[in-house]
Amino acid sequence: MRSPYYKPQNGTHCTYTKLKPSAMPQKQKPSQTAHYIELGGYQYWPVLVPRGIRLYTYEQIPVFLRDNPYITDGYRAYLPSRLCIKSLFIVSNESVNMWTHVLGFLLFFCLGVYNMVSVLPSVGASREDYVIYSITLFCFELSMLCSVGFHVFCCHRSEKTSRRWMALDYAGLSIGILGCYVPGVFYTFYCNNYWRQVYLVAVLAMILAVFFAQIHPLYLSKQWKQLRSLIFCLVAGYGLVPTAHWIWLSGGFSSELVQVFVPRVLGMYSLAALALVFYISKVPERYFPGQLNYVGSSHQLWHLLLVLMFYWWHQSSCFIMAYRHSQPCPDAAAPG
Ligand SMILES: [Zn+2]
Repeated sequence: MRSPYYKPQNGTHCTYTKLKPSAMPQKQKPSQTAHYIELGGYQYWPVLVPRGIRLYTYEQIPVFLRDNPYITDGYRAYLPSRLCIKSLFIVSNESVNMWTHVLGFLLFFCLGVYNMVSVLPSVGASREDYVIYSITLFCFELSMLCSVGFHVFCCHRSEKTSRRWMALDYAGLSIGILGCYVPGVFYTFYCNNYWRQVYLVAVLAMILAVFFAQIHPLYLSKQWKQLRSLIFCLVAGYGLVPTAHWIWLSGGFSSELVQVFVPRVLGMYSLAALALVFYISKVPERYFPGQLNYVGSSHQLWHLLLVLMFYWWHQSSCFIMAYRHSQPCPDAAAPG
Protein backbone atom coordinates (compact mmCIF):
# COMPACT_ATOMS: atom_id res chain seq x y z
CA MET A 1 0.00 0.00 0.00
CA ARG A 2 1.29 3.44 -0.87
CA SER A 3 1.64 5.99 1.83
CA PRO A 4 -0.41 9.13 1.36
CA TYR A 5 2.88 10.95 1.60
CA TYR A 6 5.05 10.35 -1.39
CA LYS A 7 8.55 11.55 -1.89
CA PRO A 8 9.58 12.01 -5.54
CA GLN A 9 12.49 9.65 -6.22
CA ASN A 10 14.84 12.04 -7.86
CA GLY A 11 13.50 15.36 -6.72
CA THR A 12 15.80 17.81 -5.09
CA HIS A 13 13.03 19.50 -3.19
CA CYS A 14 13.09 17.56 0.00
CA THR A 15 9.61 18.44 1.15
CA TYR A 16 7.25 15.48 1.21
CA THR A 17 4.28 15.88 -1.04
CA LYS A 18 0.78 15.17 -0.02
CA LEU A 19 -1.77 13.44 -2.20
CA LYS A 20 -4.84 15.48 -3.00
CA PRO A 21 -7.32 14.78 -0.23
CA SER A 22 -10.21 14.18 -2.62
CA ALA A 23 -8.18 11.45 -4.30
CA MET A 24 -7.78 9.65 -0.97
CA PRO A 25 -11.22 8.94 0.42
CA GLN A 26 -9.90 6.23 2.74
CA LYS A 27 -6.37 6.01 3.98
CA GLN A 28 -6.31 2.22 3.99
CA LYS A 29 -7.28 1.89 0.31
CA PRO A 30 -4.60 2.32 -2.37
CA SER A 31 -5.70 5.21 -4.49
CA GLN A 32 -6.22 4.96 -8.23
CA THR A 33 -4.54 8.31 -8.52
CA ALA A 34 -1.53 7.46 -6.40
CA HIS A 35 0.83 8.48 -9.20
CA TYR A 36 -0.65 11.88 -9.47
CA ILE A 37 1.06 13.64 -6.71
CA GLU A 38 0.51 17.18 -5.79
CA LEU A 39 3.45 19.26 -4.83
CA GLY A 40 3.49 21.76 -1.99
CA GLY A 41 2.02 25.02 -3.11
CA TYR A 42 0.45 23.86 -6.36
CA GLN A 43 -3.20 24.74 -6.09
CA TYR A 44 -4.99 23.04 -8.94
CA TRP A 45 -5.07 20.05 -11.24
CA PRO A 46 -4.61 20.76 -14.92
CA VAL A 47 -7.75 20.10 -16.90
CA LEU A 48 -6.14 17.91 -19.51
CA VAL A 49 -6.75 14.59 -21.17
CA PRO A 50 -6.06 11.95 -19.97
CA ARG A 51 -7.10 13.28 -16.61
CA GLY A 52 -4.49 13.33 -13.96
CA ILE A 53 -1.11 13.66 -15.64
CA ARG A 54 0.33 16.59 -13.84
CA LEU A 55 2.57 19.23 -15.30
CA TYR A 56 5.31 20.86 -13.26
CA THR A 57 7.30 24.05 -13.21
CA TYR A 58 11.05 24.12 -13.78
CA GLU A 59 11.71 24.33 -10.03
CA GLN A 60 9.56 21.28 -9.34
CA ILE A 61 11.20 18.81 -11.71
CA PRO A 62 14.14 16.57 -10.82
CA VAL A 63 17.63 17.87 -11.51
CA PHE A 64 18.27 15.46 -14.39
CA LEU A 65 15.36 17.00 -16.32
CA ARG A 66 16.58 20.55 -15.80
CA ASP A 67 18.16 21.57 -19.04
CA ASN A 68 16.53 24.76 -20.14
CA PRO A 69 15.61 27.34 -17.46
CA TYR A 70 13.89 29.51 -20.08
CA ILE A 71 11.18 26.86 -20.40
CA THR A 72 9.54 27.56 -17.09
CA ASP A 73 6.44 25.36 -17.04
CA GLY A 74 4.59 22.49 -18.69
CA TYR A 75 6.99 19.72 -17.65
CA ARG A 76 5.97 16.10 -17.22
CA ALA A 77 7.89 14.27 -14.49
CA TYR A 78 7.91 11.25 -12.18
CA LEU A 79 5.87 9.16 -14.66
CA PRO A 80 5.91 5.38 -15.07
CA SER A 81 6.34 4.06 -18.65
CA ARG A 82 2.62 3.64 -19.25
CA LEU A 83 1.88 7.25 -18.41
CA CYS A 84 4.89 8.44 -20.41
CA ILE A 85 3.24 6.90 -23.47
CA LYS A 86 -0.15 8.32 -22.51
CA SER A 87 1.39 11.74 -22.17
CA LEU A 88 1.84 11.79 -25.96
CA PHE A 89 -1.81 12.81 -26.02
CA ILE A 90 -1.74 15.65 -23.55
CA VAL A 91 -0.45 19.14 -24.08
CA SER A 92 2.93 19.53 -22.42
CA ASN A 93 6.12 21.39 -23.26
CA GLU A 94 7.31 18.23 -25.07
CA SER A 95 4.22 17.79 -27.28
CA VAL A 96 5.62 19.62 -30.29
CA ASN A 97 8.99 17.87 -29.86
CA MET A 98 7.33 14.46 -29.87
CA TRP A 99 4.90 15.07 -32.70
CA THR A 100 7.32 16.82 -35.08
CA HIS A 101 9.38 13.64 -35.18
CA VAL A 102 6.39 11.27 -35.19
CA LEU A 103 5.26 13.16 -38.31
CA GLY A 104 8.87 13.17 -39.56
CA PHE A 105 8.94 9.40 -39.28
CA LEU A 106 5.64 9.08 -41.14
CA LEU A 107 6.89 11.45 -43.83
CA PHE A 108 10.01 9.35 -44.51
CA PHE A 109 8.08 6.11 -44.27
CA CYS A 110 5.47 7.19 -46.83
CA LEU A 111 8.11 8.82 -49.02
CA GLY A 112 10.13 5.58 -48.92
CA VAL A 113 7.19 3.39 -49.90
CA TYR A 114 6.12 5.76 -52.67
CA ASN A 115 9.61 6.11 -54.14
CA MET A 116 10.33 2.38 -53.97
CA VAL A 117 7.13 1.60 -55.81
CA SER A 118 7.03 4.38 -58.33
CA VAL A 119 10.04 6.74 -58.58
CA LEU A 120 12.98 4.33 -58.44
CA PRO A 121 11.64 1.99 -61.15
CA SER A 122 11.00 5.01 -63.40
CA VAL A 123 14.69 6.10 -63.30
CA GLY A 124 15.90 2.57 -64.00
CA ALA A 125 17.27 1.99 -60.50
CA SER A 126 19.58 -0.97 -60.02
CA ARG A 127 19.68 -3.32 -57.05
CA GLU A 128 22.49 -1.20 -55.59
CA ASP A 129 20.30 1.89 -55.79
CA TYR A 130 17.55 0.14 -53.88
CA VAL A 131 20.02 -0.93 -51.17
CA ILE A 132 21.49 2.58 -50.79
CA TYR A 133 18.05 4.19 -50.85
CA SER A 134 16.74 1.73 -48.24
CA ILE A 135 19.74 2.33 -45.94
CA THR A 136 19.23 6.10 -46.19
CA LEU A 137 15.52 5.97 -45.44
CA PHE A 138 16.01 3.43 -42.67
CA CYS A 139 18.59 5.71 -41.00
CA PHE A 140 16.29 8.73 -41.23
CA GLU A 141 13.32 6.80 -39.84
CA LEU A 142 15.36 5.29 -37.01
CA SER A 143 16.72 8.69 -36.14
CA MET A 144 13.17 10.07 -35.91
CA LEU A 145 12.00 7.15 -33.75
CA CYS A 146 14.94 7.42 -31.33
CA SER A 147 14.13 11.08 -30.87
CA VAL A 148 10.43 10.37 -30.28
CA GLY A 149 11.42 7.69 -27.75
CA PHE A 150 13.59 10.13 -25.83
CA HIS A 151 10.99 12.87 -25.72
CA VAL A 152 8.31 10.42 -24.62
CA PHE A 153 10.37 8.72 -21.90
CA CYS A 154 12.66 11.51 -20.68
CA CYS A 155 10.09 12.25 -17.97
CA HIS A 156 10.33 8.70 -16.61
CA ARG A 157 10.46 8.50 -12.85
CA SER A 158 13.74 6.56 -13.05
CA GLU A 159 16.71 8.74 -13.92
CA LYS A 160 18.51 5.71 -15.34
CA THR A 161 15.70 5.01 -17.81
CA SER A 162 15.58 8.66 -18.81
CA ARG A 163 19.36 8.66 -19.41
CA ARG A 164 19.18 5.52 -21.52
CA TRP A 165 16.64 7.15 -23.80
CA MET A 166 18.80 10.22 -24.00
CA ALA A 167 21.75 8.05 -25.12
CA LEU A 168 19.48 6.53 -27.74
CA ASP A 169 18.50 9.98 -28.96
CA TYR A 170 22.18 10.83 -29.49
CA ALA A 171 22.77 7.48 -31.17
CA GLY A 172 19.78 8.21 -33.41
CA LEU A 173 21.34 11.49 -34.47
CA SER A 174 24.55 9.68 -35.47
CA ILE A 175 22.44 7.22 -37.45
CA GLY A 176 20.68 10.12 -39.19
CA ILE A 177 24.05 11.64 -40.11
CA LEU A 178 25.16 8.24 -41.43
CA GLY A 179 22.00 8.21 -43.55
CA CYS A 180 23.15 11.49 -45.12
CA TYR A 181 26.69 10.29 -45.78
CA VAL A 182 25.84 6.97 -47.42
CA PRO A 183 24.02 8.25 -50.55
CA GLY A 184 26.22 11.37 -50.66
CA VAL A 185 29.47 9.42 -50.87
CA PHE A 186 27.98 6.64 -52.97
CA TYR A 187 26.68 8.87 -55.76
CA THR A 188 29.31 11.61 -55.80
CA PHE A 189 32.10 9.01 -56.09
CA TYR A 190 29.96 6.87 -58.40
CA CYS A 191 32.67 6.70 -61.04
CA ASN A 192 35.57 6.23 -58.65
CA ASN A 193 35.22 2.99 -56.78
CA TYR A 194 38.45 3.37 -54.82
CA TRP A 195 37.62 6.69 -53.16
CA ARG A 196 34.02 5.66 -52.73
CA GLN A 197 35.11 2.73 -50.60
CA VAL A 198 37.70 4.77 -48.70
CA TYR A 199 35.14 7.40 -47.69
CA LEU A 200 32.37 4.93 -46.90
CA VAL A 201 34.73 3.02 -44.58
CA ALA A 202 35.98 6.28 -43.03
CA VAL A 203 32.43 7.46 -42.34
CA LEU A 204 31.41 4.13 -40.85
CA ALA A 205 34.50 4.12 -38.62
CA MET A 206 33.75 7.65 -37.47
CA ILE A 207 30.14 6.86 -36.57
CA LEU A 208 31.26 3.71 -34.74
CA ALA A 209 33.81 5.79 -32.80
CA VAL A 210 31.02 8.14 -31.71
CA PHE A 211 28.98 5.14 -30.58
CA PHE A 212 31.88 3.93 -28.45
CA ALA A 213 32.41 7.41 -27.03
CA GLN A 214 28.82 7.27 -25.80
CA ILE A 215 29.70 4.38 -23.56
CA HIS A 216 31.94 6.67 -21.56
CA PRO A 217 30.17 7.37 -18.26
CA LEU A 218 30.67 11.12 -18.59
CA TYR A 219 29.44 11.35 -22.17
CA LEU A 220 25.91 12.35 -21.22
CA SER A 221 26.94 14.55 -18.32
CA LYS A 222 26.39 18.30 -18.33
CA GLN A 223 30.17 18.87 -18.16
CA TRP A 224 30.54 17.17 -21.52
CA LYS A 225 27.69 19.02 -23.17
CA GLN A 226 29.98 21.26 -25.22
CA LEU A 227 32.22 18.33 -26.11
CA ARG A 228 29.17 16.43 -27.38
CA SER A 229 28.20 19.35 -29.60
CA LEU A 230 31.80 19.58 -30.82
CA ILE A 231 31.89 15.87 -31.68
CA PHE A 232 28.69 16.19 -33.70
CA CYS A 233 30.01 19.28 -35.46
CA LEU A 234 33.15 17.34 -36.41
CA VAL A 235 31.22 14.27 -37.55
CA ALA A 236 28.89 16.39 -39.68
CA GLY A 237 31.58 18.85 -40.81
CA TYR A 238 33.87 16.04 -41.92
CA GLY A 239 31.63 15.71 -44.97
CA LEU A 240 33.28 18.82 -46.40
CA VAL A 241 36.51 16.78 -46.87
CA PRO A 242 35.08 14.28 -49.39
CA THR A 243 33.06 17.13 -50.93
CA ALA A 244 36.21 19.19 -51.61
CA HIS A 245 38.03 16.09 -52.87
CA TRP A 246 35.15 15.22 -55.17
CA ILE A 247 35.05 18.75 -56.61
CA TRP A 248 38.76 18.46 -57.36
CA LEU A 249 38.43 14.97 -58.88
CA SER A 250 35.53 16.15 -61.03
CA GLY A 251 37.61 18.93 -62.55
CA GLY A 252 36.48 21.81 -60.35
CA PHE A 253 33.53 24.11 -60.86
CA SER A 254 33.54 23.72 -64.62
CA SER A 255 31.86 20.34 -64.15
CA GLU A 256 28.13 20.48 -64.72
CA LEU A 257 27.36 18.10 -61.87
CA VAL A 258 29.54 20.05 -59.44
CA GLN A 259 27.71 23.25 -60.36
CA VAL A 260 24.35 21.64 -59.68
CA PHE A 261 25.19 19.47 -56.69
CA VAL A 262 27.50 21.69 -54.61
CA PRO A 263 24.71 24.22 -53.87
CA ARG A 264 22.65 21.29 -52.59
CA VAL A 265 25.47 20.22 -50.26
CA LEU A 266 25.85 23.79 -49.05
CA GLY A 267 22.08 24.01 -48.57
CA MET A 268 22.22 20.99 -46.30
CA TYR A 269 25.09 22.42 -44.29
CA SER A 270 23.26 25.74 -43.92
CA LEU A 271 20.21 23.94 -42.52
CA ALA A 272 22.42 21.89 -40.18
CA ALA A 273 24.29 24.98 -38.98
CA LEU A 274 21.06 26.88 -38.38
CA ALA A 275 19.62 23.91 -36.48
CA LEU A 276 22.74 23.71 -34.30
CA VAL A 277 22.67 27.45 -33.59
CA PHE A 278 19.12 27.14 -32.22
CA TYR A 279 20.02 23.97 -30.31
CA ILE A 280 23.03 25.47 -28.55
CA SER A 281 21.94 29.08 -28.07
CA LYS A 282 18.42 28.37 -26.74
CA VAL A 283 17.15 31.24 -28.86
CA PRO A 284 14.36 32.47 -28.99
CA GLU A 285 13.10 31.40 -25.52
CA ARG A 286 16.20 32.96 -23.95
CA TYR A 287 14.67 36.36 -24.83
CA PHE A 288 11.13 35.40 -23.85
CA PRO A 289 11.51 33.19 -20.78
CA GLY A 290 8.28 31.45 -19.88
CA GLN A 291 6.45 32.63 -23.00
CA LEU A 292 7.53 29.87 -25.40
CA ASN A 293 7.02 26.93 -23.04
CA TYR A 294 4.68 25.10 -25.39
CA VAL A 295 5.27 26.44 -28.89
CA GLY A 296 8.19 28.19 -30.56
CA SER A 297 11.15 27.07 -28.45
CA SER A 298 14.62 26.36 -29.81
CA HIS A 299 14.38 22.59 -29.50
CA GLN A 300 11.22 22.58 -31.59
CA LEU A 301 12.98 24.61 -34.27
CA TRP A 302 15.91 22.18 -34.09
CA HIS A 303 13.48 19.30 -34.68
CA LEU A 304 11.78 20.99 -37.63
CA LEU A 305 15.10 21.89 -39.21
CA LEU A 306 16.34 18.30 -38.81
CA VAL A 307 13.28 16.97 -40.66
CA LEU A 308 13.74 19.64 -43.32
CA MET A 309 17.45 18.80 -43.62
CA PHE A 310 16.83 15.08 -44.02
CA TYR A 311 14.09 15.80 -46.57
CA TRP A 312 16.36 18.17 -48.48
CA TRP A 313 19.10 15.55 -48.56
CA HIS A 314 16.64 12.84 -49.58
CA GLN A 315 15.57 14.95 -52.57
CA SER A 316 19.21 15.71 -53.42
CA SER A 317 20.11 12.02 -53.26
CA CYS A 318 17.25 11.14 -55.58
CA PHE A 319 18.42 13.88 -57.93
CA ILE A 320 22.03 12.67 -58.13
CA MET A 321 20.91 9.05 -58.46
CA ALA A 322 18.74 9.97 -61.44
CA TYR A 323 21.65 12.00 -62.87
CA ARG A 324 23.99 9.02 -62.60
CA HIS A 325 21.55 6.91 -64.60
CA SER A 326 21.05 9.53 -67.27
CA GLN A 327 24.79 10.33 -67.60
CA PRO A 328 26.87 7.17 -67.36
CA CYS A 329 30.47 7.34 -66.11
CA PRO A 330 32.89 8.63 -68.80
CA ASP A 331 35.17 5.64 -68.45
CA ALA A 332 33.16 2.56 -69.44
CA ALA A 333 35.55 0.35 -67.49
CA ALA A 334 34.88 2.26 -64.31
CA PRO A 335 32.86 0.34 -61.80
CA GLY A 336 29.24 1.22 -61.25
ZN1 LIG B 1 14.92 16.36 -29.46
